[in-house]
Order: sequence, then structure tokens, then C-alpha cells
Amino acid sequence: MPKSLPGRPVSLWLDTTPETGFPPLPEGLEVDVVVVGGGLAGLTAATLLKEAGRTVAVLEAGRIVHGVTGHTTAKITALHTLIYDHLIRHAGEAKARAYGEAQQAAIEQVAARVRDKAIDCDFVRSDAYTYTESPEEKGRIEAEVEAAQRLGLPATYLEDTPLPFPVEAAVRFDGQARFHPRKYLLALARDLPGEGSHIFEATRVLDVTPGEPCQVTTDRGRVAARDVIVASHFPFADKALFASRLQPHRSYVLALRLDGPPPDGLFIDTGENFSLRPQPLPDGDTLLLVGGEGHRAGEGGDTVARYQRLEVWARGRLPVRAVEYRWSTQDNFTVDRIPYIGPTTQHSRHLYVATGFNGWGMTNGTVAGMLLRDLILEGDNPWAAVFDPSRMNLNDVPELVRQNARIAAHLVADRVHRTDPDTVGPGEGKVVHTLHGNVALYRDEAGLIHRLSPVCTHMGCILHWNPAERSWDCPCHGSRFGVGGEVLHGPALRPLEKK
Ligand SMILES: Cc1cc2nc3c(=O)[nH]c(=O)nc-3n(C[C@H](O)[C@H](O)[C@H](O)COP(=O)(O)OP(=O)(O)OC[C@H]3O[C@@H](n4cnc5c(N)ncnc54)[C@H](O)[C@@H]3O)c2cc1C
Repeated sequence: MPKSLPGRPVSLWLDTTPETGFPPLPEGLEVDVVVVGGGLAGLTAATLLKEAGRTVAVLEAGRIVHGVTGHTTAKITALHTLIYDHLIRHAGEAKARAYGEAQQAAIEQVAARVRDKAIDCDFVRSDAYTYTESPEEKGRIEAEVEAAQRLGLPATYLEDTPLPFPVEAAVRFDGQARFHPRKYLLALARDLPGEGSHIFEATRVLDVTPGEPCQVTTDRGRVAARDVIVASHFPFADKALFASRLQPHRSYVLALRLDGPPPDGLFIDTGENFSLRPQPLPDGDTLLLVGGEGHRAGEGGDTVARYQRLEVWARGRLPVRAVEYRWSTQDNFTVDRIPYIGPTTQHSRHLYVATGFNGWGMTNGTVAGMLLRDLILEGDNPWAAVFDPSRMNLNDVPELVRQNARIAAHLVADRVHRTDPDTVGPGEGKVVHTLHGNVALYRDEAGLIHRLSPVCTHMGCILHWNPAERSWDCPCHGSRFGVGGEVLHGPALRPLEKK
């Protein structure tokens, strides 16, 4: 029997907002732009394009803002742990400057929309901090402050923060922000349908054929569009081989009720092990969201223990009264720490992608919307070269080789051991070798056994059991499946076979 965990297993954002009910795609539609995916990147792009006079259809496989954006911690900041010193050294000062400008512009884009449309989404300005408790890391903080100041970003060096425990050093960015991501995006979604634009839910896109117009094939029928944006988090139907360039990384969040008010600010440590931010509740109290315990998706091992370690860390430093919520999610990381936003390949003229937000999708997803709007309307944007998905830096090759060797090792070397299905207890899952071949076996609380193929329908890797979320997770590209075999997270498009 799996160990029990404190807190409700749902994200605070989903628990405090209503469910949407947009219809599925009807046959025979044609629009200017199809946007695949109703997360922050997709809904922002769709909104900006509709405002610019284009007809848009958002096609969402499940319900909008249930994906990563429904499970984020939603800090809106240009302070991406420590990045600007790294970018100056690896990409050059001009690109580092453009990256920082894009992030700051994204914060202002969100702030202006919240103000102009009077969106009630708990948006507040807040300072962001990257801190270290280690004397050895002090130099990295100093270098980041110097780099950020050189790029004109609002950085200050500190040795004291609002955190209730001492730090060695910190960098602070002033005037950043936080919000309730679902309240913000459901407001955008309310304004999208009409004047030839639509949101369709329960509509999974299976393929996109570029052309004039592009043809988008879904499980509900086809739709034609001059331009298509793939904002599905991990790209599918992947002719540009994003699967070999993206590394999904999963981490865990606890929403804690404290004795006393939580520290005011957005915090992350230099090792990206722990992230903290406050969030008000409808009952007037304010919770503290604590994130951490990250790992490569599909390789979490005992994921129950990850929540437990996060709770131990929090209780060791903060006056925790109760764990109210717990959830986890994953984001895609790129080798050079810059997202892929733009045409999918050098030759594609109407097919665009927005992915690889490196754990900072509130600003990067907003940048994606702004950049893709400009590329579609005007063919250019000052940040286009920085985020160009076709860029290639020879310095990145060794890390790409390492990543792909790891994936290859999973593909060819993951072995399934002969196991007696009786050793799988209630609420547990295991990939077992039986007389009928390999089986992903889950026994529910009532003792009923559910048998599925353990082979990921994306590229054929053997799935791993995730005990905390009760899902089958792929260690190669991060696809996830429910205990009924349904796709929970792409790039997989098809459910697992029943056995
Ligand atoms: C634990 C954690 C905390 C984070 N905290 C922060 C933070 O504080 N600040 C920050 O800036 N960033 C943060 N991030 C990152 C940020 O949340 C993500 O980068 C961002 O939400 C990704 O948005 P998206 O629109 O790309 O993806 P999603 O929100 O996942 O949207 C993609 C949508 O596409 C749909 N879809 C997928 N495949 C298909 C298909 N074939 N057809 C149709 N629809 C499809 C999905 O159902 C989904 O709704 C965090 C990430 C993690 C893991």
C-alpha cells in the first residue's frame, strides 16, 4: 500500500477556479491561425493575434489551462535563477540583453493587460530573489548582479532577504510580479471566441501538414489555417527533432499554511532546489508555495519520498501549520537555456513552435505570444534570432550527445524483470514480465488489476511507475499516461494498449 501524503492532491489554481466547457471542433472549419494547446503560451498568442484582427482557433486536447500552466508556481520574473552572466559568456552580450529585455517586456505585457481589462487574478508586483546559503556560491551571485546591471536589468546585491532563515548572498530584481495563472488565462479565454475565433476543447491534434493553407488533422476532423502555432508544451509530429533537443524536468509543489504571514517575495536558491512564493486564498489567509525535489521526468523513483523530503525541508525552516495542497508538473529544458520560439525549421513558412521554457514559462510563454504575433503579422521581431529554434551552437553539442545517449540507453537497455503480479499491492503499479510478455500492471484499491502495454506510444521506451501521481511516465521524452492508459502529457498522441 503506498504511503499516504498530507495535503489535497490538486493544484491550488485548479481548486479555486471553475472548470471550462468549450465545445469540440466541428467539421469543415477554416481560420487564419490554428493554435495547438491552451496553456499560457497558446492562449497568449491566440489573444494577441485576435486583437490584431486574425481569426484564430485554439485546439486543446483536454481542458484549457490544465497542463503545466495549471500546475506552475506562476512567478512572473526576468530573474531566471542565475542566467545573465551565463548568457553573456555563452551567447554574447547582445543576445543576453535581448533575452532580458524580452522578459521585462513580458512582465509589462501581463501587467498592462491586467490593468486595461481589469482582470481579477491576484496580480501583484513583487521583488524576486535568487539566494544562496553557501559561501562558495557567493561569487556566482556577484557575477550575476554585475551582468544583470550591465544589461540594464533591475538587479541589486544583498546579504539579507525577507526569508526567515539566513542566506550568504542574494540577487534581487525589483518590480517583478506574481498572479493566479488560471484566473488570468480564463479571463483571456472568455474574450477569445467570437468574430470568427474559437476555442475547442477535447480536440487532440494528431498531425500538421504544412502548405498554403496548412492542414491540421485532429481526432475530431480537420481544420485549415494559413499559419499554425504548436504550443503543446512538448512538440508532437516532430519533423524538426525537438525530441532530441528538449529535456523534460519534473518537480513538486506544496502549498503550506504557516503560523504567521509568509515571506514577501519570489525566491529560488542558486541550485534550483527550492522555490518559494506566497499566494492569497479566498478565505483571506495566505499560503506559501514551496517547490523543489526536481528530477528528469520519468526518473523520479520513489516520488512519494520527494514530497516527504520537501515537507521535511519546509518544516525545518518555516513555521508550517498544515500542508493544504500538493501537486507536481514538468517543464522542458534546452541545452543553451533559451526557449525555442519561431518557425519550426529554417524552411517552414507557416508552422511555428513555442517550447523549452526552462521553468520560466510565465515570461517566456508571454514572449512567445508577442514574438509569434509579430512573425505572423510582419515577418520579423527584434528578439527572433535569440529564440530561433534552428539556431545551433557547437558548444552545445557535447551536452546534446550526452542527453541522447541517455535516451538511447533507456530505449535499448531498460529491462523488465520477471515479477509475480501478486507482489503488486493495492494502489501500486509495476512493469512485470509475464508469460504473455511485458505488462504495466496496476492494482486499484479494490484489488482489481489493470493491464496495459508498458511501451510508450511516442518512441517505444519502457514506462516507469510514478507512485505519487499514480501514472505511467516515460523516461525518454516525458510522456505520461493514466492507469486507464489515457495520455496525460505529450508528446505521445495515442493511449497505451490494453493487455
Ligand atoms: C513545478 C514547476 C513550477 C514552475 N513555476 C514557474 C514559475 O514560477 N514561473 C514561471 O515563469 N514558470 C514556471 N514554470 C514553468 C511554466 O509553468 C511552464 O513553462 C508553462 O506553464 C508552460 O506553458 P505551455 O503553454 O507551454 O504549456 P501547457 O500549459 O502545458 O499548455 C500546453 C497545452 O497543450 C495541450 N496539448 C498537448 N498536446 C496537444 C495536442 N496534440 N493537441 C492539442 N492540445 C495539446 C495540453 O493539454 C496543454 O493544455 C514552472 C514549471 C514547473 C514544472
